[in-house]
Amino acid sequence: MYRIRFHGRGGQGIKTAGRILGSAFFLAGFEVQDAPRYGAERRGAPLFAYVRADRRPIWERGIIRRPDLVAVADDTLVSLPAAGVLAGVAPPTVLLLGSSTPAAVWRERLRPPGLLLTLPLGEVWEPATLRFVGATLAGAAARLVGVIPREALERALREELAGLGPEVVEENLARALSAYDLLAEHAGCVTEGPELTAEDYERPHWVDLAPEEADLAAPAIHAPATSEAVPTGLWRTLRPVVDRSRCRRCAWICSTLCPDGTIGVDAQGFPVIDYRHCKGCLVCASSCPAHAIQVMPERQAAGE
Ligand code: SF4
Ligand code: SF4
Repeated sequence: MYRIRFHGRGGQGIKTAGRILGSAFFLAGFEVQDAPRYGAERRGAPLFAYVRADRRPIWERGIIRRPDLVAVADDTLVSLPAAGVLAGVAPPTVLLLGSSTPAAVWRERLRPPGLLLTLPLGEVWEPATLRFVGATLAGAAARLVGVIPREALERALREELAGLGPEVVEENLARALSAYDLLAEHAGCVTEGPELTAEDYERPHWVDLAPEEADLAAPAIHAPATSEAVPTGLWRTLRPVVDRSRCRRCAWICSTLCPDGTIGVDAQGFPVIDYRHCKGCLVCASSCPAHAIQVMPERQAAGE
């Protein structure tokens, strides 16, 4: 059975990547299971998608703990404990990182037990085309497993994205096929993992809490403003930037609508974004009546 785990951030199309790859496997004659996992958070939060594919019926369920391929859309996730990119990575797991940093550097940093490849950002997708990341990653994964013909990938992508219109489909398809072709020399490097037996079963890593009386068990707030301590700015892939020349200083709109309360107002009445906590949901940009909040890919912003 192939067990593939996608990692990305909300907004990068990782759920779609799982669907495209799952459909492509199906069209290539496999039984398939695909499921995303994400929390209540929105754009920018770490997100997972799992794909299992086998020639026989799949009885395994749940999250994938021992992946054959880990495909990561965004290399900033590697250092994020909540993303768990390296969880369960063991020989012969293949690690595919979407990154403009060379694979040799990542191998030195992570010393993975198996093959590590990078999908160079500059060659396959530019920062401005983050919305194509999911399809691109699906194309790359389809090539690495080596059992999905190009035609199956193309048909799967067309079917999965049909509702988005022909232009979006063609743009995504071009990226996916480009990644598929780019990784030709590694076709088949991902191999099927063994069947798991009952002895291999690992209990979920949760904590059993004994039932207590309400005065003990009810949630207790021990200190105010603890969310301050969580740097949700690390989740951001796109950055809202206020264009002061267009801003009308009606700051109650953007500052009120920001779900994280990260927009303050300076002495002149202009909005000021706290980038340590802004998670890049872009509610502010879409609700600004003056279109004064521009959207900039985080890599570009960091470069500038
Ligand atoms: S809503 Fe737009 S125009 Fe109004 S203060 Fe915010 S950025 Fe400026
Ligand atoms: S500042 Fe804008 S992008 Fe950042 S969290 Fe608030 S609404 Fe979302």
